[in-house]
Amino acid sequence: MAAAAAAPRGRQSGENRALGRTVKLLERLEAQCRDPRLTSSPPSLRDLLPRIEELLRKVSQARRAAGGGGGPEGPGGAGDFLVIYLANLEAKGKQVATLLPPRGRVDANDELFREGSRLRRQLAKLALIFSHMHAELGALFPDGQYSGHMYQITKAPAHAFWRECCGTRCLVPWAEFESLLRTRHPLEVGSTALALRSTIDLTCSGHISIFEFDIFTRLFQPWPTLLKNWELLAVNHPGYMAFLTYDEVQARLQTYRDKPGSYIFRPSCTRLGQWAIGYVSSEGSILQTIPPIRPLFQVLLEGQRKGFYLYPDGKNHNPDLTELLRVEPHQHIQVSEEQLQLYWAMDSTFELCKICAESNKDVKIEPCGHLLCSRCLATWQHSDSQTCPFCRCQIKGREPVSVHQLPGRPVEARSVASEDSWDSSDLNDNEETMGQVVPSVPPLPPRLDLPPIGPRSTGGLKVGPLALPRLRAPLPLPKIRTVASVPWEANSSSQAREGHTE
Ligand SMILES: [Zn+2]
Ligand SMILES: [Zn+2]
Repeated sequence: MAAAAAAPRGRQSGENRALGRTVKLLERLEAQCRDPRLTSSPPSLRDLLPRIEELLRKVSQARRAAGGGGGPEGPGGAGDFLVIYLANLEAKGKQVATLLPPRGRVDANDELFREGSRLRRQLAKLALIFSHMHAELGALFPDGQYSGHMYQITKAPAHAFWRECCGTRCLVPWAEFESLLRTRHPLEVGSTALALRSTIDLTCSGHISIFEFDIFTRLFQPWPTLLKNWELLAVNHPGYMAFLTYDEVQARLQTYRDKPGSYIFRPSCTRLGQWAIGYVSSEGSILQTIPPIRPLFQVLLEGQRKGFYLYPDGKNHNPDLTELLRVEPHQHIQVSEEQLQLYWAMDSTFELCKICAESNKDVKIEPCGHLLCSRCLATWQHSDSQTCPFCRCQIKGREPVSVHQLPGRPVEARSVASEDSWDSSDLNDNEETMGQVVPSVPPLPPRLDLPPIGPRSTGGLKVGPLALPRLRAPLPLPKIRTVASVPWEANSSSQAREGHTE
């Protein structure tokens, strides 16, 4: 028994030492970063270092409180993750330390303070990696508590893939991950695989975490053509820029100021999983925008039609993305007979959007799964809200759905999308959370990633008017029909300027 206890204890003290060492290193880097000439738009090391430190302290506290563990300790669990994470953080921290002037020396290397210099570029890339590492740690250890085994990937089929292939692990070595991914998506060997690794492995750790996979599958959605999308949008597209910051995009587009329609795009670092597109407007100004959540090829094609995105990185030839434009398989929603009866009794229908009570539900918020109509979602997001109006979970994705009602029959359930079963159960769950509890719905496993909300805990059958979601701010009912071009309008008018508004 002593021997059995010794292993985790030994491991625990190793982990504590690594945590302590890393926090000290970050403190030293912070002191080295104080020079105001190093100020930049996000990601900024000066902001990131103390935030990573704080999170690490919380992780450390939570691990101690749990008595040498806390959370699942199996392979690919919290302990394994921290070993890889801390070693990587230490390695990247040392790289930063060699670039920065030593403490107390402001005269050091002039090159570092020149925008666009080689050293400055290296520092910007490291800052991006730190930004990703901060986001990853926060996602897998919210408030210090490990929850990687319960992490919910935004896109349902990607989530199903990870949990089927990797179980409760939150981290997989690259080689293993690559072979698992190949079982679902064709991938050439050699340089293509290396390029893929550099796109997915945001923290450059040699491992893929469930968080990194979530970001990748959001950026390169939809899932059925995931690697095809990636090839056309990243590998072969001159407009794609990996590891570029807001400032660098501004600088790069300066060259094309006299060529309106020039554009480049990069994964956003402040809204991970979304794209930031920089372009030269018809007036010759440089704008950067984060378009609403949709597959990137759709955004680029629409921008091309409207004359915004014509010359990728200033080049005359715009790659043809139309081959990605297939009919999107809408997910079909299944509703139980009892649910239908209940809605009828309340003089409503299942498919009616419960926010405007005008249009039918045609979009699903991810990852929580709540349904509403796309006009209400556009209005809601336009008011700059990034959380679900029903449950306030972060809106990380959206998926078109259709609810078909055949006369005299319950809503038709059809299996078009392969991930149908996951969504049906999800739907039931979420209809419940909306306060329309139906006794006959089979019990569902608790959604640990959702914050508890009111009506569900009462468990009773509600009659009378539908319980409307509690909205944080009144949602203006969309009376004006802006139909077809809603996503684009939301995009061009909001002009989220990354790095300046956040
Ligand atoms: Zn609506
Ligand atoms: Zn929700």
